[in-house]
Amino acid sequence: MTNGYSVGGDVVSWCTKCKLELGHTIIAIVDNKPVKVKCNTCNGQHNYRSAPAEQKKSTAKRAGRKRKTPEEIYNEHVTRLSSENVPVARKYRINDNFTVDDLIDHPKFGIGVVMAIVKTNKIETLFKDGPRLLIQNQ
Ligand SMILES: [Zn+2]
Repeated sequence: MTNGYSVGGDVVSWCTKCKLELGHTIIAIVDNKPVKVKCNTCNGQHNYRSAPAEQKKSTAKRAGRKRKTPEEIYNEHVTRLSSENVPVARKYRINDNFTVDDLIDHPKFGIGVVMAIVKTNKIETLFKDGPRLLIQNQ
């Protein structure tokens, strides 16, 4: 027990109130790790935290707000449609008739998701490398 923690000893922990990494006094230990600490600055008692949890959360939120790449949007749609009603992509043919949310198996571009009917004979389809206009109803 030379480098172990002990109740009443000091440990650097993330303080949930001060929002800083500060010196804390250990109140409770489980499996040689501090679980409950008291902040030496604000005297607040809380669970031991080695990293700022809230900061991590806000970083994730910020990342979610950033513009998605076509590939990310594509992956979301394919994942959603694959788990829902359209498990298999239909082979693309120019004389076929597709609707929004159809999965298309294109010989050149791969699997695509129909995003919009542009005209009765044109569909906007999202492929892994971006959206493309395809002809239908020919
Ligand atoms: Zn504090």
